[in-house]
Amino acid sequence: RRSLRDWKNSGVGGLIPFNVPYVPEISKRYILEAIESSHQQGDGPFTARASKLVADLVGGGHVLLTPSCTHALEMASMLANLGPGDEVILPSYTFTSAATAITKFGASPVFVDIEPDTLNINADLIKSKITKNTKAIIPVSLYGQTADMDKINSIAKEYGNIPVIEDAAEALGSSYKCKKCGTFGDYSILSFNGNKIITTSGGGALVCNTEEQKKETIFYATQARDNAPHYQHSKVGYNYRMSNISAGIGRGQMEVLDKHVGLRQKMNLFYKNIFKDISGVKVFQESNDDRVSNHWLSCITIEEGSKITKQNLQKRMILKN
Ligand SMILES: *Cc1c(COP(=O)(O)O)cnc(C)c1O
Repeated sequence: RRSLRDWKNSGVGGLIPFNVPYVPEISKRYILEAIESSHQQGDGPFTARASKLVADLVGGGHVLLTPSCTHALEMASMLANLGPGDEVILPSYTFTSAATAITKFGASPVFVDIEPDTLNINADLIKSKITKNTKAIIPVSLYGQTADMDKINSIAKEYGNIPVIEDAAEALGSSYKCKKCGTFGDYSILSFNGNKIITTSGGGALVCNTEEQKKETIFYATQARDNAPHYQHSKVGYNYRMSNISAGIGRGQMEVLDKHVGLRQKMNLFYKNIFKDISGVKVFQESNDDRVSNHWLSCITIEEGSKITKQNLQKRMILKN
């Protein structure tokens, strides 16, 4: 609430932003400590500590922090060995990152339609899109509601262990069958961009299942430098490590995840209440008891024939702003 007031007083104007980044006092201390420490690159004490905190938040896994979630998707594409001619199954409705990351390695997206009640990939339609070239499936848990991960993982297994890359960028703090999002794929990715449930100003994470996978990722994310006393690189690598300073911001944020999730869940009830007597408007909730959403964003659909339309709702909100 305070952040929103600050934002209004800032004179920036415009629409209500869907997230006002909140930097707790403790984060400010960590940032200063990170600046004053001799370590500012991607393998400092704050990145190490923040990686452990992320593993704690999702309940396991081996975590590498990256400059953004899009970078983490690229790392996952490398680990899954994607290349030209490969096909990757994706939902037809999602943010662009997963499609752009796999395209960078020459693979092509194959889109599968979504379910009306979760807005996530329809697992029942995946099989019909699998070919001999399918080399990965990237389910996305949109707006905090988990994709049907059990069904998707069992299809991947049935078709020869197709790697599953779980895009949980919007679902940190959500769970499915009592297990936290960020642990359902062969690789899972998270986002700490400024508009996400917690932020490192810009950042992401790749969650691997094994220490070996993490070591391999660190190798490729640190310019693939060979184990030699001089600079020697026999493979192509990248510079994809989160800075120690960003990790300092993240460290304080990770302590407030539960609080942020609680506030978003309250916000969802607020919207549910506002629209409860207006027919034709659906405020998205968890589709069944298997899921607990962080309600990162509350979404509505408006049926044709409802007494409100998208356009007049938008106009009213701008006027009230
Ligand atoms: C935000 C987002 C990403 C990308 O995250 P960045 O950290 O901005 O690169 C990827 N996938 C989904 C579903 C997202 O919402």
